[in-house]
Amino acid sequence: MHYRSYLIESFGCQMNLSDSERIASQLESLGCISVTDHEQADIIVMNTCCVRESAENRIFGRIGALKRLKTKNPDKVIIVAGCLAQKDQESIFRRASHVDIVLGTQNIDRLAEIINEKQRRKHWVESADYALDGLGESIGENRHAGVSAWIPVMYGCDNYCSYCIVPYVRGRERSRSTESILKEICAFAESGGKEVTLLGQNVNSYGKNLPGDWDFPRLLAEVDQIEGIRRVRFMTSHPKDFGDALIQVMATGKNICKHLHLPVQSGCNELLQRMNRRYTTEEYHRHVERLRTAIPEVSLTTDIIVGFPGETDEMFEQTLAFVAEMKFDAAFTFLYSQRSGTPAATMDEQVPHAVKQARLQHLMDLQNEISLAVNQYWVEKSVEVLADGPSKSDPSTYSGRTDQNKLVLWPTTPEDYPGRFATVRITSAQTFLLRGIAESERTGMQI
Ligand code: SAM
Ligand code: SF4
Repeated sequence: MHYRSYLIESFGCQMNLSDSERIASQLESLGCISVTDHEQADIIVMNTCCVRESAENRIFGRIGALKRLKTKNPDKVIIVAGCLAQKDQESIFRRASHVDIVLGTQNIDRLAEIINEKQRRKHWVESADYALDGLGESIGENRHAGVSAWIPVMYGCDNYCSYCIVPYVRGRERSRSTESILKEICAFAESGGKEVTLLGQNVNSYGKNLPGDWDFPRLLAEVDQIEGIRRVRFMTSHPKDFGDALIQVMATGKNICKHLHLPVQSGCNELLQRMNRRYTTEEYHRHVERLRTAIPEVSLTTDIIVGFPGETDEMFEQTLAFVAEMKFDAAFTFLYSQRSGTPAATMDEQVPHAVKQARLQHLMDLQNEISLAVNQYWVEKSVEVLADGPSKSDPSTYSGRTDQNKLVLWPTTPEDYPGRFATVRITSAQTFLLRGIAESERTGMQI
């Protein structure tokens, strides 16, 4: 069977988006091209997430919806990849017998080979640990389309936060070699790339398993030197490993963006301890003070979980007070989700769903007020924006992001194209975005 086309649906975090690029590169090595119509695709890949139960249920719904297509065309290959594939493995076939291949998180590099051999087996599970000794080094360096790319610098996680399933489905922490990361970014820059985001579950522990004395600040400083790359971002930093060396590189770098994503998870020390986060709110506070002193216009975003087992009203109030004090630019807020196999799933005092929901709403209301107030700072200022393309919600406007990762919309001008660095004067602020007017490159005038 010769396969000509593929479609990938990606769920969850940026690491999955990056894995989807690696999956695409495997499929393209078989001669397949990307299509957007499920009927037309010879191969459909669902690249899944299982961090929260809600994501998992939604994905099983999507997988179920593919049954009709498989019945109509039994030659179509349905692949379930990613974290849910790693977690549920064989049981995916029981829930969805129309799935052909279950591909674990460490087996992406084997996909082309598996598809070539597929005729030998009906249902195929590939989920071995550490199957990928080369850590993706063999992946084609020209796999990134556009001007922005996700660059994994490490895989897996060793932190075992008590609520989190990631270490169980993505394996032990391993860093990619510096040489291969820099080579990949140089190739991307040569092909016109402008922005990279270095990815890892905890980038601050980069280099621990590598020979030599590589660490994340040193890697970041090296990436900052690559000609052609105008913006360097990274995520995620774990507060327990964050420190002055990284602040120093961020403050003195040429192209390192003034944005830090530093998940706090809770504003209560007792809960942080039960979450196995290994820092206190006081330590987090000190990091933020030093960061804001060194980089005055830095933006700070975070993740917060509400309704962790044992969270009392008083503990939740502590989180609200901490959020009010920190004045985050934005917070990703989550209802705690019980993930079987993690220590928190069997802790006593699970919080009732209705209580969790009420707390989440309260927290979101507070953070939205803060985000709006923080965004007002940008009104009447001119900012440099890396243009993405016409806005999806309003095609008469163009969209892009500032150094601080703020979304900006402005009325489209004839000079706009994706990948252009535009100067935009901000005229108004909203909770989740800024609006402005583009200034002409040639004349410095507003258009
Ligand atoms: N490695 C990153 C870190 O430590 O910040 C984050 C990875 S995780 C995919 C993204 C976010 O999902 C976490 O920061 C946490 O807030 C949230 N999360 C993880 N497990 C969760 C759970 N069981 N219930 C609710 N939220 C969860
Ligand atoms: Fe999950 Fe904690 Fe690892 Fe982040 S650091 S992936 S929250 S275990």
